[in-house]
This record gives sequence, C-alpha cells and structure tokens, in this order.
Amino acid sequence: MKASNSDHHRSTIIIGAGAAGLTAAIYAARANLKPLVIRGPKPGGQLVTTSNVENYPGFINGILGPELMRCFEAQAARFETELRQGTITTVDFSQRPFHLVVDREQSLLADTVIIATGATPRYLGLENEQRLLGRGVSSCATCDGFFFQGQDVAVVGGGDAALENALFLTRFADHIFVIHRRAQLRASKIMQQLAFSSSKLSFIWDTRVKDILGDEELEGLLLEEVKTGETSILPVKGLFVSIGHRPNTEIFKEWLEMDELGYIFTQPDSTYTSVAGVFACGDAQDRVYRQAVTAAGSGCMAAIDAERWLQTNHSLKSKIAKEIKQLKFMLGKKLKE
Ligand code: NDP
Repeated sequence: MKASNSDHHRSTIIIGAGAAGLTAAIYAARANLKPLVIRGPKPGGQLVTTSNVENYPGFINGILGPELMRCFEAQAARFETELRQGTITTVDFSQRPFHLVVDREQSLLADTVIIATGATPRYLGLENEQRLLGRGVSSCATCDGFFFQGQDVAVVGGGDAALENALFLTRFADHIFVIHRRAQLRASKIMQQLAFSSSKLSFIWDTRVKDILGDEELEGLLLEEVKTGETSILPVKGLFVSIGHRPNTEIFKEWLEMDELGYIFTQPDSTYTSVAGVFACGDAQDRVYRQAVTAAGSGCMAAIDAERWLQTNHSLKSKIAKEIKQLKFMLGKKLKE
C-alpha cells in the first residue's frame, strides 16, 4: 500500500507510547505504514510505575514494568517506527488529513490517527493533598515507597492497585493502613488473600480521608467513619492514593464521542471512534479491563483497523480519481464535437 509519508505528513500517527501505543506501532510498522509515535509526557505509560508484572503472558517469573516497556519500545524501533519526544497539544479532526500540533509549535498531518494516551491516577480532591504531593502524598508506591523505610503509612482505596501498592510497601514501611470507604474490597480474591495474610497490613473499613495534616510534610490524616460521622486522627508519614484513574482524553473532547468519565467510545469489536480514520486503544477507551495485555491487544487491533481503513480509502480515492479522469476525457471529446 502507498503510504503518504513525509516528515510533515504521515500515514499513521500514534499518540502515546504505553503498552497500547507501542503495540500499535509494531503492527503498523510491520504493515509498512512507517508510523510516527509521539511519546507524550509519560512514555511507557503506567507500567513504568509498576514493579513486578506477573500477569503479562510469556514471562514465567514475571518482569519489571519498566523493563517490559523498554522491550516494547525496542521492538517497535527495530521495525520502521519513528519515536518522537513531545506531547500533542491540539488536534483538528474536522477534515482529512487530520491536523495535530506537538508541543504547541510543530504542525503535523496524518491520514490516520491512533489514540493511545492511557489514563492518569485520580486524587481525592483535597486541598492539602496537592500541597503535600511529593512531601508524603503520592500515587505511586513503586516510585516513592523507598522513602518510607521504617515508617507508618496509609493507602487509600479498595481495588487491586491499592492492595498491590500496600503489599509493595511492606518491603519498606513498618506498618501500612489500608483505608477503604466500604467494608468490601473491590480487589481480586488472590490479592485480598495476600493482603489479609500480611502481618504488616491492617484495614480501616467504612472510612474516608477527610483531611491531610502537616505543614511542611505529611504528619497524619483526619479520618471520618462514613456511617457514624465519627472522626479520628491517624498519625502516618505517607499516604498513597490508589483510587483509580482518569483517561487522558481531554484534547479529543471536542471531536470524539466519549462517556461521562472521558473514555472514548469505540464501535463494538473494533477500535473505530466516531470519526472515520481516528482509532482509539488502551486505557483511553477501556473502562472495564484496563490491563497491560488488553491494552496491547487493542493496540494491535487499532493498527490493523488503520491499515485496512487506509487500504479501502486509498482504493476508493483511486477509483474516484479514475472516474473523474474518464469523465473529463468524455466531456472534452463532447466539446470538440
Ligand atoms: P479500581 O477502579 O478497581 O478501584 C478503585 C478503588 O478506589 C475502589 O475500591 C473505589 O471504591 C475506591 N475509590 C474510588 N474513588 C474514591 C474516592 N473518591 N475516595 C475513596 N475511595 C475511592 O481501580 P484500580 O486502580 O485499583 O484498578 C484498575 C484496574 O486495573 C482494575 O481492573 C484492576 O483489576 C486492574 N489492576 C490489576 C492489577 C494486577 O492484576 N496486579 C494491579 C492494579 C490494577 P469502591 O470500591 O467503593 O468503588
């Protein structure tokens, strides 16, 4: 297939370099689309903030998240993928080729766009949470856990991420309190078993974090029992917020159909969005599974969808061009007569 590739105008631009984007790159490159990947503000995506990944198929003893993403990227680069540092700041999907702007200055055109921008951790929304971010408050145990050797810390949330973070923190912290707003965990049974069997973990049920205390550094949490409204202070030096993620889809809001949380709608059994030629994969469109392997799988689907769309579009374009040429010839002939 003919790919309209110049430095400025590409057949396929992939936005994001996590599991979804890099898998899309591998497949698009092998389909000869010479994809350009705009790596975004957090290349590697969420897996670079994970420690051991034990559920990605093919690694009997697991693999470290950053190492896995390094392999994804090296594999994409082995074929004809260009990986470019930068963040897409504006898109215009009103006409084709689509118009994208990198870092507010560099303009690009694309025949197809694959959105693989992933998701970002959510925070509680407390004023002191942002003020003490990096000074006791964190969303990434694997990044910051090391700094809490021998201290008491808390994790808020009841999903797999909360328990994974809590279990990871047992390597450093003295004790970890898991604060959950309900009395049942959302996390998988296997994670629950692991967490319940750790002597370093204890659970504070039916409780929310009402405030985060400390001037220069985190010193404690003001907790509120949700049923009774009773408040108490938990003296901890660290708080790891693990309450889910928000899809990174803000810049596409004007152009694509999304749900109320910002997950991009894709047509069933495909990665087609509401704009023909724009495809979405990974956590930007998946509010259900959100796994590295499902992100990679949907990245593969997006590349195949883009390739087929280009092929159909290209043959349609050539057919129309041929018919126009024929009509012009007939018209010219008629005028001469
Ligand atoms: P989830 O959406 O699964 O869980 C979020 C948790 O945070 C829930 O317990 C929720 O409470 C709680 N929560 C949400 N908002 C608030 C709030 N404002 N205040 C207090 N608590 C709040 O997100 P995760 O990030 O844990 O997991 C996302 C996906 O990734 C899941 O599919 C999970 O299985 C997967 N995952 C898998 C891992 C693995 O297999 N090793 C590791 C990490 C994630 P409530 O339950 O009441 O809604």
